[in-house]
Amino acid sequence: MAEENKPISNSPPALDLGENEKVIRLVAEMVAGKIADIRPQFDSTSETGFIYPAVEQVLAVKGEEVVSILESLAKKDILKRDFFDKFLRCPQCRSVILRPTTHCPKCGSGNIARGRVFEHFVCKYVGLEDEFMSKGRYICPKCGQELQTIGSDYQSLGLLRKCPDCDEVFNIPVIKWRCLKCSSVIAEDKVGEVNVYSYRLNEAKRGWLEFELKPKSQLIEFLKQRGYKVKENAEVKGKSGAEHRIDMLATRDNGIITYSIAIGVKVAGDKIGLREIFDFDDKAYDAGIHDKILVVVPGLGKEAEQFASLQRIKVLEVKDLETVLASGVLKPSEEVKREPFEFKSKSQLIEYLQLNDYEVKENAEVKGRSGAKHRIDMLATRDDGIMTHHIAIGIEVAGEPVGLAQVFDFDEKTYDIGILDKVFIAVPRLTKEARQFAQRQKIKVFEVKELEPSS
Ligand SMILES: [Zn+2]
Ligand SMILES: [Zn+2]
Ligand SMILES: [Zn+2]
Repeated sequence: MAEENKPISNSPPALDLGENEKVIRLVAEMVAGKIADIRPQFDSTSETGFIYPAVEQVLAVKGEEVVSILESLAKKDILKRDFFDKFLRCPQCRSVILRPTTHCPKCGSGNIARGRVFEHFVCKYVGLEDEFMSKGRYICPKCGQELQTIGSDYQSLGLLRKCPDCDEVFNIPVIKWRCLKCSSVIAEDKVGEVNVYSYRLNEAKRGWLEFELKPKSQLIEFLKQRGYKVKENAEVKGKSGAEHRIDMLATRDNGIITYSIAIGVKVAGDKIGLREIFDFDDKAYDAGIHDKILVVVPGLGKEAEQFASLQRIKVLEVKDLETVLASGVLKPSEEVKREPFEFKSKSQLIEYLQLNDYEVKENAEVKGRSGAKHRIDMLATRDDGIMTHHIAIGIEVAGEPVGLAQVFDFDEKTYDIGILDKVFIAVPRLTKEARQFAQRQKIKVFEVKELEPSS
């Protein structure tokens, strides 16, 4: 990747084409190879004097709007432009159909004649040969004498121009431009110049564009259908205080826990290296997001792949993504209720979770990383088709406030199992120090006066 030194994000900026469907269509056609090079054609009937027929056809826009679309894409480095021609442009009407005209350098008249110029030594008169011609002889129009011998009483100054309006004789006329559309005469230094370019797709951006154009919007749609809110180019503040930019942040508030997935997009011409994966992982870690998906185009290098697996980053190549998106059974997700979630019994909690597509296992036995087996009061699991989300729920019912030991024990179990979303239900409540500990360990606590027996 070229952008090595950008501090916030080293991925390309989001394809800012959101509002302009026409631009997207043009880029899509170019990526698909339906439009190759975009070359201008001279067209005297058009507003600008040249047209890009291929673009006009696809976008149904004309003239300067075409140029501004092409230029904006060139500025974003999506298109590469090559110099094609330089046109002169009328500053009055912007037409490029101009004709050069010659003028007297002294009085500016366009009425100038060209021919052999004589000088009569006797009276110093200088004029065109035509002016001296009279019935086959040369007669000076000033003094009326006949010219005798070239070199003695007159000489030829050669082929020159003479202005009949002010009698100026000169060699090089002043060039001006006549606009054939509005008839203005424009001095050479006032005439506009316009460079005309041809455009082609920047091949280095192809992979990224291919992702942006289709799989990306499909992925966003996929997540939305599963109840996620998706924010592109999301700014998140890390524990370190640093601001990070995450390509896509998917969040889902199920009323109990807000679940976030950081989605990174890495596109490169070649295999993606360790450094970029590390960068993504680091940002997600600092932001406290533990579920991570990395969409890579084309693929990962071996080292990067190992690191991703070690850091539990789910890596999807675009072709994997297509499979995931296609396999997703679309069931309309229940609109998640936002009011503070309350429950009076265990069965009510289970019902609520099930309504939110969680599978709930009571008294689940789970093996930890240490090899030990743990019992979790409730294990809620939801498979989105792209990510499996687990919530560990501990329930402690006591006659008095539940103390630190129980919360600590629950936290340790979930740590060993590797579940990061933790809910602790304390009946009737926690002690102050247990509550502080829970807060620090990011355990969501529900304090319930009493839990009715499940029906
Ligand atoms: Zn003149
Ligand atoms: Zn004379
Ligand atoms: Zn004009």
